[in-house]
Amino acid sequence: MAVDTVSMDKIVSLCRRRGFVFPSSEIYGGLGSTYDYGHYGVLLKNNIKARWFEAMILERDDIVALDSAVILHPRVWEASGHVEGFTDPLVDCRTCKLRFRADKLEDSQCGRKPSKHPGETPECDLTEPRQFNLMFETTVGPVQEEGAKAYLRPETAQGIFINFKNVLQIARRRPPFGIAQIGKSFRNEITPGNFLFRVREFEQMEMEYFVPPAESERWYRYWIDERLNWYLRYGLRRSRLRVREHGPEERSHYSQGTSDIEYLYPIGWSELEGVANRGDFDLTRHTEFSTTKLEYVGPDGERYVPHVIEPAVSLERIIVAMLVDAYDEEVVGERERTVLRFHPEVAPVTAAILPLIAKDEGLVSKARSLYEELRKRQSVEYDDNGAIGRRYRRQDEIGTPWAFTIDEQTLSDDTVTVRDRDSLAQERLPIGGVRRWLDDALERDWKTPKGD
Ligand code: ATP
Repeated sequence: MAVDTVSMDKIVSLCRRRGFVFPSSEIYGGLGSTYDYGHYGVLLKNNIKARWFEAMILERDDIVALDSAVILHPRVWEASGHVEGFTDPLVDCRTCKLRFRADKLEDSQCGRKPSKHPGETPECDLTEPRQFNLMFETTVGPVQEEGAKAYLRPETAQGIFINFKNVLQIARRRPPFGIAQIGKSFRNEITPGNFLFRVREFEQMEMEYFVPPAESERWYRYWIDERLNWYLRYGLRRSRLRVREHGPEERSHYSQGTSDIEYLYPIGWSELEGVANRGDFDLTRHTEFSTTKLEYVGPDGERYVPHVIEPAVSLERIIVAMLVDAYDEEVVGERERTVLRFHPEVAPVTAAILPLIAKDEGLVSKARSLYEELRKRQSVEYDDNGAIGRRYRRQDEIGTPWAFTIDEQTLSDDTVTVRDRDSLAQERLPIGGVRRWLDDALERDWKTPKGD
């Protein structure tokens, strides 16, 4: 039986045990809700970014890449509306001294009675809500004066809008076309939490797709489908994904349509990715504030301000969704095993090379040469540490789809055993054919054995 739901605690503990994610600044007592990524966490992140980059840029002709600065001209954030309006309502509790988001009290725990929500016990003494800007401020240059105030970007999108003209001219694009980027964003969230789901520093993957105004609705629907299909392509279960369209009261004033692709996290259905039809708001505002005209002028003189469709997601929310979806426990023989059933193209390690006996020179030399051959193209791991059963379990827990074991028989007939993480099936194949076998295996469609 596949594990259908898993608690966030199990995910956090596996991530820590296997070195995916550590609480940050731990030797100094930790800094709440900030995390450092260990070796497998970095490999996982790199793979997810690579799959996004492929789907958004390399497999298409209409989207180009960008990597804009984290600290932009402060006027950018005035034009975007963030200085004035990027706020959440905050309340303080005078009793427990904690702060809460006034609109999320039902998701928060009272500081004194964690089973209650803030405001639910007679001792709770909440202040009136006040607006709190989520942007981190910093100072540029050596002089701390008003003119030097700047912000760490709370989203990567604005870096794209301010480069619209560069891309239009230098990359010679015409709508519909897109600009995509991956980079860190920072938000001083009032109540971060739920592991990586809401953190103050996260890596966003955003794409702004510029379209003729009359086509915006069509492209908005198109991008909702594209992004949903990307999650299915990389193995998330259909039953755990849904699209929720925002009602008019929930949308930003400029939005002509917003939909969340939601995932059924252990905390319930929550936003994984947002797809928004932003109209001409951003280009118009930057034209106004910068006095540089951001518009498209066609070869026959037609001119218009393109409308923008934006799919935006953080790597952190994808990582949590993929970990939750992949997590499984089962009893094999008498033993329980924990396994991450990652899509093979996302798994941190694609294959493990395991010499059955670590001290046998013949086995080691065959195993090392297979490892050297495969590592040129894939993320593979050589592991000769401990009993073979323990090594398999370690690879299962980090989600390695295949393990190649070099044993006594290899010395006589040059074959190895390949073990499949999901089915546990084992077959023998010639050592010379492993590289090809692995390439083919990666090409095959993969579906999670956990069902739909
Ligand atoms: P929420 O309502 O959950 O605060 P949002 O609607 O403010 O999110 P957007 O501004 O649309 O989020 O940001 C785009 C994407 O960036 C989100 O869909 C989410 O994937 C991600 N994201 C936003 N805030 C955070 C955060 N604090 N930690 C991790 N990821 C985040």
